Amino acid sequence: MMNGTLLVVLAHPDDESFPMGGTLAKYAMRGARVELVCATRGEAGIPGKSPVEAAQIRERELRAAANVLGLAGVRFLGYQDGQLATANPDYVLTQLVTLMWETRPDVVITFGPDGISGHPDHIAIHHFTTQAFDRAKLTGARLFYIAPSEATRQGCGVTPSSKIAGGPVAAIDVNEYLVTKVRAMQCHASQNPPFSGPPEEEAQRLACHEYFTLARPVASQKGLTDLFAFGAAVSLPQGG
Ligand SMILES: [Zn+2]
Repeated sequence: MMNGTLLVVLAHPDDESFPMGGTLAKYAMRGARVELVCATRGEAGIPGKSPVEAAQIRERELRAAANVLGLAGVRFLGYQDGQLATANPDYVLTQLVTLMWETRPDVVITFGPDGISGHPDHIAIHHFTTQAFDRAKLTGARLFYIAPSEATRQGCGVTPSSKIAGGPVAAIDVNEYLVTKVRAMQCHASQNPPFSGPPEEEAQRLACHEYFTLARPVASQKGLTDLFAFGAAVSLPQGG
């Protein structure tokens, strides 16, 4: 068992389950305190629903997914879906630095500069979280970015064919947590999630690894198999 704290800072309900649900479940199950911060409630994410209605539905879905993943807590920054990039940077940074001081994370995860899908909210939370991390000066903490990887849509044993840009890559083995990941994705029913069949069957279509790049501290070029500092560093396979 481990007792570190993992703080995940994302933009919308469902950002946590699709790219990294296996990793969150794994660390929560191993005893880490996993705290999720979501900048919006996904107000713009349900066609035909008002922002208020959509926010209520999506907050409920996110809390259900967080429960499945074993997260310690979910907090919202209170911004409107689609408008994070126009928020007052000083205000967002103050919120995030305060949260970091409160939760004292050993590891912080957010989107990389590409925002995976390029969504402006994803890119905005990437910048805010990186700046807040630098400002908070947490002793010994690491900052990771979610690495874009087609491997997350493929089966076990697949390493990403395109090189992952950025610092050392952490390849987290989530093989034992794929059913949990599918269950968490299925909580986001309003988003018509893929993998909607029986979780045990759908899990076999998911990749065994989720990938992250180490952004802070800027250090060695070795691959990692653990997000926390006590994890062993290993070399990645060729092409990985
Ligand atoms: Zn999103």
